[in-house]
Amino acid sequence: MRRLAHHIATVCAAVSLGASLVVLGLWLCTGSSFAGLHWGGLRRTQYYRVYFWSGGGDLTVECVRDPWKFASDSELDGFHWAAPQPISNTHFWSGHFDAHHSVGGATRIPSEIRALSVPHWFALLVCLLLPLAVCGWRAARRQRLHRLRVAGRCTRCGYDLRESRDRCPECGALAK
Ligand SMILES: [Zn+2]
Repeated sequence: MRRLAHHIATVCAAVSLGASLVVLGLWLCTGSSFAGLHWGGLRRTQYYRVYFWSGGGDLTVECVRDPWKFASDSELDGFHWAAPQPISNTHFWSGHFDAHHSVGGATRIPSEIRALSVPHWFALLVCLLLPLAVCGWRAARRQRLHRLRVAGRCTRCGYDLRESRDRCPECGALAK
């Protein structure tokens, strides 16, 4: 069980480290320009557009819902790299935290825009937290085991093993 938790923590930390490299890459590559991924499509009766993009110091996710499909939307169907300029874009380009929600249009079912953006540095920090925590925890554990071994104690329960050869008489762990 402990071993499984150990493996899960390792995998999560590795994934998180990979994500931090992606964020760093986006940050370096899209300093003043921007790049992104865009998806557009019809869901039930509503037309949705979702933008993920990086630029101006921010990572932004924006979701736009329209009650119908505009003529200009047809070229936005499916996935696209290099997202077209998102609608609430003037709101961003800030390098700051931003949350945006607006409902508009003089129709019976209004259009809706939801957007969230965070600075690259913040996303990078969040992605690095887990790998750093796991590394710190491992280092502390190694140090603790080393101290116990040097002191001639059981690495599992701390029992004094100087009189014992192979197994800890207290918990049965193999003496190392
Ligand atoms: Zn023991």
